[in-house]
Amino acid sequence: MDSLNNISKDVFSCKKCGLYKERMNPVPGAGNPKAEIIFVGEAPGANEDMRGIPFCGAAGRVLDRLLEKAGIRREDIYITNILKCRPPENRNPREEEIKACVPYLERQMAIIKPRIICCLGNFAVSYIMRKFGLGNKIRGISKIHGKIFSVQTLFDSIEIIPFYHPAVAIYNVNMINILEKDFEVLRKH
Ligand code: URA
Ligand code: SF4
Repeated sequence: MDSLNNISKDVFSCKKCGLYKERMNPVPGAGNPKAEIIFVGEAPGANEDMRGIPFCGAAGRVLDRLLEKAGIRREDIYITNILKCRPPENRNPREEEIKACVPYLERQMAIIKPRIICCLGNFAVSYIMRKFGLGNKIRGISKIHGKIFSVQTLFDSIEIIPFYHPAVAIYNVNMINILEKDFEVLRKH
């Protein structure tokens, strides 16, 4: 049977795209295997690459604050990214890298079976919404942030929520206010 540990092992030895060459540490993901909420970001940054932990740098501090304000404990959720290795200079993920890497995310979601998928930033929004048949509902993040999209799967229903990426709020107080307001939808769950 597949497990989060197996996935991490596979990520650690992965060479399916060119990003393995420059990474220091792959960042498979972290958190509660029984989480009801999964957060999906874009890709590790410099701090994550150094420590192997998702969202442990400046964007992570924003995320921690948002979680705390929404009354969510990091140990109750699972956090991962579309890409498990850092793109050089934090450039955008490339199509072929996403294609090579998302099978790990798919396996993680198959094990965790989250009820709520929080997409952080455009790359996660676009991938997750398409995967769940919401491709025709994708709009610019400024139009759909904080909205709840419900999808029916074979056995249950999943809620997908697009958010701005926390990194946009590092130097922008307006954005932190918008993000805090959007995270309020999670409190009700
Ligand atoms: N940004 C992301 O998208 N993911 C991280 O893990 C850190 C920063
Ligand atoms: Fe493998 Fe993903 Fe890392 Fe590419 S980014 S080497 S596909 S784990």
